[in-house]
Amino acid sequence: MFDIQKIREDFPILSRMVYNKPLVYLDNAATTQKPLCVLDAMREEYLNVNANVHRGVHYLSQQATDLHEEARETVRRFINAPSTSEIIFTRGTTEGLNLVAASFTEEMMKEGDEVIVSVMEHHSNIVPWQLQAAKKGIAIRVIPMDETGKLDIKEYEKMFNEHTKLVSVAHVSNVLGTVNPVKQIVKIAHDHGVPAMIDGAQSTPHFRVDVQDIDCDFFVFSGHKMYGPTGIGVLYGKEQWLDKLPPYQGGGEMIESVSFEKTTFERLPFKFEAGTPDYVATHGLATAIKYIENIGIDNISRHEQELTEYCMKRLEAIDGMRLFGTVKGKDAVVSFLVGNIHHLDMGTLLDRLGIAVRTGHHCAQPLMDRLGIQGTVRASFALYNTKEEIDVLANGIERVVKMF
Ligand code: PLP
Repeated sequence: MFDIQKIREDFPILSRMVYNKPLVYLDNAATTQKPLCVLDAMREEYLNVNANVHRGVHYLSQQATDLHEEARETVRRFINAPSTSEIIFTRGTTEGLNLVAASFTEEMMKEGDEVIVSVMEHHSNIVPWQLQAAKKGIAIRVIPMDETGKLDIKEYEKMFNEHTKLVSVAHVSNVLGTVNPVKQIVKIAHDHGVPAMIDGAQSTPHFRVDVQDIDCDFFVFSGHKMYGPTGIGVLYGKEQWLDKLPPYQGGGEMIESVSFEKTTFERLPFKFEAGTPDYVATHGLATAIKYIENIGIDNISRHEQELTEYCMKRLEAIDGMRLFGTVKGKDAVVSFLVGNIHHLDMGTLLDRLGIAVRTGHHCAQPLMDRLGIQGTVRASFALYNTKEEIDVLANGIERVVKMF
């Protein structure tokens, strides 16, 4: 049973007022709110369990280690990875992308080699490659898209050559909501003998992800976009690749033995986890995953799909509305502009009505260039949003339009 009122009670922040108006939180693609169970789990750990993980012989350290390693197993199950040694905890999607960009380029790429990304990438899947390009002279190739926000797979297929070393694309666009055909994208890469990485920041909160089914070589996502705490994320990588890559950072936890002459590294996944991990956040993330699983990820998908379709319909009917990203089956993100009202004006006026939306380039400036705009207003949904909230948004937009 998907009891939306009961679900909303798990998120006390949703009943607060802003400017004497009930909050309508539609900025979930930036970060989601946290249910009480996640906050309780983290508070309980700090109150009663807290000790540094691994290597500790004492009771608390072992208990904290158990929670941390159980969290790894929960993540493994959530994305159906074959083994916990392939689950690396990071600070978030951005760190996962930087890790692979740095380690993969160092070991696997030379000057003139190429990485393929898409035109709808978040800056975090563009800038790390540019940093490597500046260091090592690699080149970035870009998959184009059509007017609806659909990637051009025919063009993509033509981009491979003997210099292509990696493909790295978003599962879901954080601006357009397009769900990219990642299984097909990975298959095409593999047919050319090239591994592929998927940025799952906007997919894991919304629908079932199975990394074995996608067959991707790397997959990254963030905890805070799926009801978990900030500062924790995951990099999944196939063991065959992780084994080949050099460590990203050096320090404690990631070594087997150290002398001034020679250091050997820990086995996976610890080789990529230098320093004290955020073991309270990993427990928080695991609690968020169990919260999602309790409600049912397929129920969440269905609910959010209904919200998205309803929102697109309501907004389409508004005079002067321009919607960006109109591919069928798109995910829980709706980007728009109305007439010549600046996105910042629209966002500011909606805010005064208690409606939290995001405005600007959404960390996707190359996509804005492609669309020939400076930015959009973006409403994005989570499992706790309602059709009534979308009505508030649509009515709010109409009110702003009248003011102009
Ligand atoms: N990739 C996509 C598609 C995103 O939407 C985001 C965040 O908005 C990121 C990467 C970066 O995520 P984080 O800031 O959690 O590292």
